[in-house]
Amino acid sequence: MKVPFLDLQAQYLEIKPEVDTRLDGFLKAGSYIGGAYLKNFEENFSSFLGASHCIGVANGLDALEISLKSLGIGVGDEVIVPSNTFIATWLAVSNCGATPIPVEPKHSSFSIDPAKIESAISKNTKAIIPVHLYGEPADLDLILEIAETNNLFVVEDAAQAHGAFYKSKRIGSHGDLVAWSFYPGKNLGAFGDGGAVTTNNLELAKKIRKIGNYGSQEKYINDVIGRNSRLDPMQALILDIKLKKLDEWNDRRRKIANKYLSELSDIDITLPDGFNLQDGAWHLFPVLVNKRDALKKYLDKNLIETLIHYPIPPHKQMAYASDFSSSNLEIAEKLSSQLLSLPIGPQLEIDQVDFVIKILKKYFN
Ligand SMILES: *Cc1c(COP(=O)(O)O)cnc(C)c1O
Repeated sequence: MKVPFLDLQAQYLEIKPEVDTRLDGFLKAGSYIGGAYLKNFEENFSSFLGASHCIGVANGLDALEISLKSLGIGVGDEVIVPSNTFIATWLAVSNCGATPIPVEPKHSSFSIDPAKIESAISKNTKAIIPVHLYGEPADLDLILEIAETNNLFVVEDAAQAHGAFYKSKRIGSHGDLVAWSFYPGKNLGAFGDGGAVTTNNLELAKKIRKIGNYGSQEKYINDVIGRNSRLDPMQALILDIKLKKLDEWNDRRRKIANKYLSELSDIDITLPDGFNLQDGAWHLFPVLVNKRDALKKYLDKNLIETLIHYPIPPHKQMAYASDFSSSNLEIAEKLSSQLLSLPIGPQLEIDQVDFVIKILKKYFN
């Protein structure tokens, strides 16, 4: 049996009739930038999240970068980031001219350890970027408290956490700004690139819209040196259709996660059992395995597709290695050698999940 890591074609087929109808309407309307389709999605997404404002941008990296810019973060500033994350979290900081300061994760959640944040704060620190990695919300209460005590902004990287809850409130407005990606493989993904920022802060929302629109609020009046970063309305209409499915799709992910958690507990891998089953978005199902590459090969041979998130931590990438050669980030390094993401997705069939479990058990017994 073939088990793809994520089946985006099957996801499309689930919504095809509505996509076809609405796409046809969009194309015939002849308005291809901004407009009602974009506005609709921005409104629907912010109200789904319980946030006051949503600003569509071109992708998740832009969402992070423009967020930092709107807070005035630039050269000479430091921003605290997780050592274990996708490199975009770091790139956003570097692209503003600021310096990413990595903080190691907790082992149980793979996500930034609040207990290690305070010692990383200096007089130049301006913000913390918690990442809701793998769909599991970071420890926001503690992080927000540290931020308040130290007068720092919090920009959440929610690229993997669409629909997740933190203490019964959806991710989307806990921090000052929340950055989203709609890369096709995310829990809420477009048919191409897309991103957004959500916030309850009107002033910041206006600044973000301005930066993404050539620094202009009023046409041909340019107040700041901005850029062009737009969410395509064609993608917005796709996202609007998928948004209605998001809770149902996340519930299917939770069902699969629950099955893995209960049926894989007796084999020699570490499960993400510190994750909150009902609240997380289960973007990924990461496990830790000692001889990871051998297991991955075995699963490949059995047509079970797995991925590694992430094989090389940012500080070990050539882009950053010379600046961080003396950094001691052992946890991130160890995780990168042991992490393996099992297939999880709303279109995965239960017999495919059963097959993954069966093959894993066979391997370990
Ligand atoms: C996907 C992702 C991003 C970047 O999003 P893009 O839309 O690909 O630019 C940023 N941070 C994390 C944690 C991600 O998973």
